[in-house]
Amino acid sequence: RKGSVVITGASSGLGLATAKTLAESGKWHIIMACRDFLKAEKAAKSVGMAKENYTIMHLDLASLDSVRQFVDNFKRSGRPLDVLVCNAAVYQPTAREPSFTAEGFELSVGTNHLGHFLLSRLLLDEMKQSDYPSKRLIIVGSITGNTNTLAGNVPPKANLGDLRGLQGGLNGLNSSPMIDGAEFDGAKAYKDSKVCNMLTMQEFHRRYHEDTSITFASLYPGCIATTGLFREHIPLFRLLFPSFQKFITKGFVSEEEAGKRLAQVVSDPSLTKSGVYWSWNKASASFENQLSEEASDADKARKVWEISEKLVGLS
Ligand code: NDP
Repeated sequence: RKGSVVITGASSGLGLATAKTLAESGKWHIIMACRDFLKAEKAAKSVGMAKENYTIMHLDLASLDSVRQFVDNFKRSGRPLDVLVCNAAVYQPTAREPSFTAEGFELSVGTNHLGHFLLSRLLLDEMKQSDYPSKRLIIVGSITGNTNTLAGNVPPKANLGDLRGLQGGLNGLNSSPMIDGAEFDGAKAYKDSKVCNMLTMQEFHRRYHEDTSITFASLYPGCIATTGLFREHIPLFRLLFPSFQKFITKGFVSEEEAGKRLAQVVSDPSLTKSGVYWSWNKASASFENQLSEEASDADKARKVWEISEKLVGLS
């Protein structure tokens, strides 16, 4: 049978490019988990995905009710879950004030981390029941959360500190909207959320890989300077950033190439190792990359996991 893969945020950028690549392989049915049904439908059509290869299901990661509803709808659909790709993200580098999810969590960490945390925890049982030979749970990471790299050292740097803001619920009322308890900074909140994504992947691996044989993985697909992720940046930045990445840092990858990379992590028979953060070299060959000290801190991973469980109502 075809593999059945859920991709969050498949309505644009990396998620859409990945959906397209997998659809074209003929080996996958893609469940596009998106907050805007019409946009997702148009996006699927615009890249020429054949109707029988995808299904769109509503998911707004900025609402835990919506996450639970999605999981119920998915279970009712009767489809197996073979691979889950947590890809959606928001990035608000120019925001002066924080915005919040339905439950009142700062939006970047609330969407990118907490929404995906609940989703993947609730869908783990579905994955356990699948008879697919190579089941995978993939959480898209980023180099920007990695302070052991050049790009990760552009200020403001990711730093989860002692987690006091997360502990307080990131609500901006009786706690800071930032994980480390500091003043709001939209670019940093995004980087922090990506560190949480990478810590979560490793904690999943430690807790569940042996018993379930599910592969848990993260990746940095390269800098895809053309995606909607930069839609909230200032116009001059949006104009110059793709050329900067192409000619100066040489980290630029097209959406199509990045989609192929993520599709490899979904289905390539050679990328089954669990607990790995994948990157690609200049010749587009995959390799196991090193995470920064904070992004590989097992103690912090456990704490983030436990606090997140409380925030999303799992404990
Ligand atoms: P895009 O902005 O193009 O795509 C993000 C997707 O997330 C969109 O489909 C968007 O939906 C969706 N999304 C946002 N908020 C929600 C929500 N509340 N509920 C459901 N879906 C939501 O960005 P990219 O493709 O660049 O980003 C994809 C992933 O790649 C992210 O995890 C990002 O961190 C990562 N990444 C990107 C890099 C880059 O250089 N671009 C580099 C490294 C990692 P909608 O279409 O409705 O807006």
